[in-house]
Amino acid sequence: MTKSMDAIMALCKRRGFIYQASEIYGGINGFWDYGPLGAQLKKNLRDAWWEDMILRPAWGRSGPNGKPVRCVPVETCIIQHPKVWEASGHLAGFADPMRKCPGCGHFVRADQYWETMAQWSEWLNTLIQGFEPHTGRYDTEVILKWARTKGKRVAPNLAVVRNPEVTLVALATRINGQPAAPLDMKELVQYLGTEFLEKTGLQEPCPRCGAPLGQPAPFKLMFQSWSGVTQSDENVVYLRPETAQGIFVQFKNVTDTTRVKIPFGIGNAGKSFRNEVTPRNYTYRSREFEQAELEFFCHPEESQAWYAFWRDFRMEWWKSLGLAGENLILREHAKDELSHYSQGTSDVEYRFPFTAPGFGELEGIAHRGDYDLTQHAKHSGAKLEYNDTDRGEILPNGGRRGERYLPHCIEPAAGLDRGVLALLCEAYTKDETRASPEFLKLHPRLAPVKAAIFPLVAKDGMPEVAEKLHADLAARFWRQGAVEMDEKQSIGKRYARMDEAGTPYCFTIDGDTLTNQTVTCRDRDSGQQTRLAIDQVGAFLAEKLGQA
Ligand code: ATP
Repeated sequence: MTKSMDAIMALCKRRGFIYQASEIYGGINGFWDYGPLGAQLKKNLRDAWWEDMILRPAWGRSGPNGKPVRCVPVETCIIQHPKVWEASGHLAGFADPMRKCPGCGHFVRADQYWETMAQWSEWLNTLIQGFEPHTGRYDTEVILKWARTKGKRVAPNLAVVRNPEVTLVALATRINGQPAAPLDMKELVQYLGTEFLEKTGLQEPCPRCGAPLGQPAPFKLMFQSWSGVTQSDENVVYLRPETAQGIFVQFKNVTDTTRVKIPFGIGNAGKSFRNEVTPRNYTYRSREFEQAELEFFCHPEESQAWYAFWRDFRMEWWKSLGLAGENLILREHAKDELSHYSQGTSDVEYRFPFTAPGFGELEGIAHRGDYDLTQHAKHSGAKLEYNDTDRGEILPNGGRRGERYLPHCIEPAAGLDRGVLALLCEAYTKDETRASPEFLKLHPRLAPVKAAIFPLVAKDGMPEVAEKLHADLAARFWRQGAVEMDEKQSIGKRYARMDEAGTPYCFTIDGDTLTNQTVTCRDRDSGQQTRLAIDQVGAFLAEKLGQA
């Protein structure tokens, strides 16, 4: 069963995972803040990426060359020289085709027109509910009635609402002309937006008000600002739309100043900005978001093997964090979907409640060839060729003339906000039979609160024992996340609170603790309680959190 996005969003707000940005001013479309639990959850995801991609890449596995994988980090600026975006192609090409509505000023992404209609158009949805296509024909009487009543309110600028008779003539002509071929929904919508068929042809009406949409025009996605005191054209700068370009422009510095040798990766994580035309689906499509990207540089002949290596590892990685199951797929792009420079791209996709039964991209793994380094070499004049002294011609004196080439690049590009959202959607569990009917089954590695300590009652010395255990665990596990103590409310309510925060383990100090030095340990997912010696709690938690 599909989970309710409204319920997930309500829990995220109620428990301090995600807030609307600038909420007290009414919010700002496309921007989201993380509250205390959400900020820690996102940090844990970022840390997991950093640990498994930079510090111990691919969990210490050997690459296709049989050697350990080597990666280093960089942290590059959000604002780069504008020529970076010229070279990368973003300045010219990073735009969505947009259609403006002359009636209400609404913008619609041309390539998402039908998806937008189906999901968001109130007028289309009321129209569909209002009539059934009988025997393959559309009943124009029903449409006429709708146009004269409900249609006036929900789609005042739609041709069939403004001028029902003329528009329906066009529709009737179409139906009567070819009775054997019923109109499909797309055609019907176009006919309803068409007043004078001969003059205008079919029209695609605005999903919001029904007026015929204008022609597609490119809409630039990069946020623009000025660097310096004068707000003139020569001072224009852009907020980066991806973190990857920062890696390419520092490629030479990294190879010149460190001992990395091909093959190796450079990782970069941080904020990116895209003035998305229709930010929606909670944090899925935001205007400010965080990416974690790796560029893995390798010899062209080894590039396909590295592409397969990273593609498979990245899928395994998301699975290891709890996204296993049928909600996660790896989708290899078809040839005609690839960018002109790409020799292969796969997306790790998750079935979000709002994309179900379809999937939405979490991460793209692309074989980018030498496209980016070629572009930056051309636009900057810098020599970005790599001198590979492990390859190349052996000289008569036994030395080697290194092989010079532009490395090929494999790019696993993940979105951390989409990652957090997928983890929250996957973790969200509803079970009416429990005292806590909603809870989050977050992986212990990612859970913002790792454990909670409860004195059963606030007397008989229980709070003191609980405080001591809390202090011991907090001192040991603070690097991984919070350990909380809670002595308010009934024990059931305290468990429920922790369940909603996704806390995997709760330890309760009760009457028996005072006599036999044991505590109850409650498992979040099963709700089961077992007894454990109080001096074993630290070791138990360390094992569960994967810490030696
Ligand atoms: P989409 O097709 O969904 O717009 P994309 O293919 O343009 O995404 P990439 O440029 O490949 O995305 O960026 C890599 C990752 O960055 C994506 O897989 C996604 O997780 C994240 N990302 C991209 N755009 C956004 C956004 N507007 N909001 C949140 N995350 C985003």
